[in-house]
Amino acid sequence: MVQAYCVKCKKKGQEMKDPEITKTSRGGFMAKGACPDCGTKMCAMMSKDNAEKAMKDGAKKSF
Ligand SMILES: [Zn+2]
Repeated sequence: MVQAYCVKCKKKGQEMKDPEITKTSRGGFMAKGACPDCGTKMCAMMSKDNAEKAMKDGAKKSF
Protein backbone atom coordinates (compact mmCIF):
# COMPACT_ATOMS: atom_id res chain seq x y z
CA MET A 1 0.00 0.00 0.00
CA VAL A 2 0.98 3.58 -0.52
CA GLN A 3 0.74 6.19 2.16
CA ALA A 4 0.66 9.91 1.65
CA TYR A 5 -0.28 13.14 3.30
CA CYS A 6 -3.77 14.49 2.66
CA VAL A 7 -3.80 18.27 2.53
CA LYS A 8 -7.53 18.40 3.17
CA CYS A 9 -7.67 16.02 6.15
CA LYS A 10 -4.27 17.32 7.27
CA LYS A 11 -3.40 13.75 8.05
CA LYS A 12 -0.18 11.89 7.43
CA GLY A 13 -0.09 8.27 6.38
CA GLN A 14 -3.45 8.15 4.66
CA GLU A 15 -3.69 5.02 2.56
CA MET A 16 -3.90 6.00 -1.06
CA LYS A 17 -6.93 4.80 -2.96
CA ASP A 18 -6.29 3.45 -6.47
CA PRO A 19 -2.58 4.26 -6.39
CA GLU A 20 -0.82 4.78 -9.68
CA ILE A 21 2.93 4.79 -10.00
CA THR A 22 4.44 7.26 -12.42
CA LYS A 23 7.96 8.35 -13.20
CA THR A 24 9.08 11.93 -12.95
CA SER A 25 11.09 13.68 -15.64
CA ARG A 26 14.12 13.37 -13.39
CA GLY A 27 13.82 9.61 -13.15
CA GLY A 28 12.23 9.46 -9.73
CA PHE A 29 9.09 7.60 -8.86
CA MET A 30 5.84 9.11 -7.77
CA ALA A 31 2.59 7.65 -6.57
CA LYS A 32 -0.71 9.30 -7.39
CA GLY A 33 -4.00 8.42 -5.87
CA ALA A 34 -6.90 9.67 -3.83
CA CYS A 35 -7.55 10.06 -0.14
CA PRO A 36 -9.83 7.27 1.14
CA ASP A 37 -11.69 9.67 3.42
CA CYS A 38 -12.33 12.75 1.30
CA GLY A 39 -11.29 11.80 -2.24
CA THR A 40 -8.74 14.58 -2.56
CA LYS A 41 -5.92 13.74 -4.93
CA MET A 42 -2.71 12.86 -3.19
CA CYS A 43 0.76 12.21 -4.45
CA ALA A 44 3.94 10.99 -2.87
CA MET A 45 7.53 10.78 -3.96
CA MET A 46 8.87 7.27 -3.77
CA SER A 47 12.14 5.47 -3.92
CA LYS A 48 12.57 2.84 -6.62
CA ASP A 49 12.31 0.09 -4.01
CA ASN A 50 9.08 1.46 -2.59
CA ALA A 51 7.61 1.97 -6.05
CA GLU A 52 8.37 -1.61 -7.02
CA LYS A 53 6.92 -2.86 -3.76
CA ALA A 54 3.76 -0.82 -4.26
CA MET A 55 3.32 -2.21 -7.77
CA LYS A 56 3.74 -5.71 -6.42
CA ASP A 57 1.02 -4.90 -3.92
CA GLY A 58 -1.34 -3.93 -6.71
CA ALA A 59 -0.61 -0.30 -7.50
CA LYS A 60 -1.11 0.50 -11.15
CA LYS A 61 2.00 0.99 -13.23
CA SER A 62 1.60 3.98 -15.50
CA PHE A 63 4.91 4.73 -17.07
ZN1 LIG B 1 -8.45 13.46 2.91
